[in-house]
Amino acid sequence: MKYLLRTYGCQMNEHDSERIAGLLESEGYEATTEVSEADVVMLNTCCIRENADNKLYAALGDLKAEKTKRPDMQIAVGGCLAQKDKDLVGQKAGHVDVVFGTHNVHRAAELLQESREQGQIVEILEAAVDAEHAAFPSALPEKREVDYAAWVTIQIGCDNSCAFCIVPSVRGPEISRPFGDLVREVEHLAKDGVSEITLLGQNVNSYGRDITLKLGGRDADDFDVHEAGELWTSGGRRRGRPLFADLLRATGEVPGIERVRFTSPHPKDLREDTIAAMAEVDTVCNHLHFPLQSGSDEILKRMHRGYTAEKYLDRLHAAYAGIDDLAVSTDIIIGFPGETEEHFVKTLEVAAEAQYDSAYTFVFSPREGTEAAEFTDDFIPKEVTKERMERLRRVIERSAAQKNEARVGRIEEVVVEGPSRKNEGVISGRTRQNKLVHFDGELKAGSLAMVEITQAKSHYLMGELREVVRGPRTRTKIPVIAG
Ligand code: SF4
Repeated sequence: MKYLLRTYGCQMNEHDSERIAGLLESEGYEATTEVSEADVVMLNTCCIRENADNKLYAALGDLKAEKTKRPDMQIAVGGCLAQKDKDLVGQKAGHVDVVFGTHNVHRAAELLQESREQGQIVEILEAAVDAEHAAFPSALPEKREVDYAAWVTIQIGCDNSCAFCIVPSVRGPEISRPFGDLVREVEHLAKDGVSEITLLGQNVNSYGRDITLKLGGRDADDFDVHEAGELWTSGGRRRGRPLFADLLRATGEVPGIERVRFTSPHPKDLREDTIAAMAEVDTVCNHLHFPLQSGSDEILKRMHRGYTAEKYLDRLHAAYAGIDDLAVSTDIIIGFPGETEEHFVKTLEVAAEAQYDSAYTFVFSPREGTEAAEFTDDFIPKEVTKERMERLRRVIERSAAQKNEARVGRIEEVVVEGPSRKNEGVISGRTRQNKLVHFDGELKAGSLAMVEITQAKSHYLMGELREVVRGPRTRTKIPVIAG
């Protein structure tokens, strides 16, 4: 039996897909890239990107002819859009066999089997029923795309209510994975040859808030240590602080782990102890993704972001001051409903002061089901957002180019990702600051090299190989099943 898996959207979805692939392969399926060979076509959907529903229904339309030709081929739709649209997917596309949501990814293979006997199955859960398996894709078997790096989901859902975002309604409230399970999973990954992990969550800085609330008001026992870690429970008493910094320290100290990254932190929740952990733990990379969204206090309030521009910059300056050689990236939305020229100029000013290394800039587009989609009277015309985007691009590129230029002549530690997408003869890799470096050589993905930076562009660096520190680490084939 063969499966074809298509993933739309963010890293959370890509990570879910690794787990779906792992589940299917543990049931004996093999991967294929050809629809004509597939016994199962699985679409893992996303509703964050623009026109996500049009893209899904177009893809399902394309698959209809193949399904008519081969009625035994199964089509399954999972992910955020399935969670949001519920019965609609099955109603609009009667040839779909299985529809499942974000809370029952672990049931993907079982649902395919059940639908062979029962016909179309739509199973969308309103919330996770079993925190150990339903909630955390990391607790399921996985098939990683690369050997040397892995994502580790530390929490799911989000307790915030940003006006433009659909995540809270499709992923539910924040649930943190127990500390002990996470450290154990990272230990398994390290034994399996992984040297770089990325801790993944919608708001990683608030990791453990639900755990510490649950443990409130009692002496620490073994259960607490498993749930919250030894640092938090030290001295036999529960402690009154969040857990993310402890998690950075504990995972960063796992033997074999050389780089720890995380995404995404919410600016309102960035704490001094997180900055201290980033500064003090050598394996934690000196890169911070710090989403601004807008530099105008009025727009930030309308977005329900929970910080002002001043507070954002205070925290950013604290991070620059505390962490040596820090690189910072951000997300900015242009043309949020009601954004005036004055509001936008404030965004330009904050962006200039923040001195970003890179930025993901988006023109606002309404997502059905979000509060901001209702602000139709205040939508900003396309020609205005286009012009603002260009002005913002120039500000970001100026700081990015200056900061990259300052790296010329330095020797950087680079982890090789593989051949460059544009030129097979050139290798691409990432520095500890998450900067992309291209250089000549023949090294396998996962190798560690020292590279002298010879040229800087605003989006990448060019370099020359100076030393190969090591090749990729050998995998020992220990199955990665945590939980
Ligand atoms: S913090 Fe805001 S933008 Fe991020 S997932 Fe939660 S609601 Fe969405």
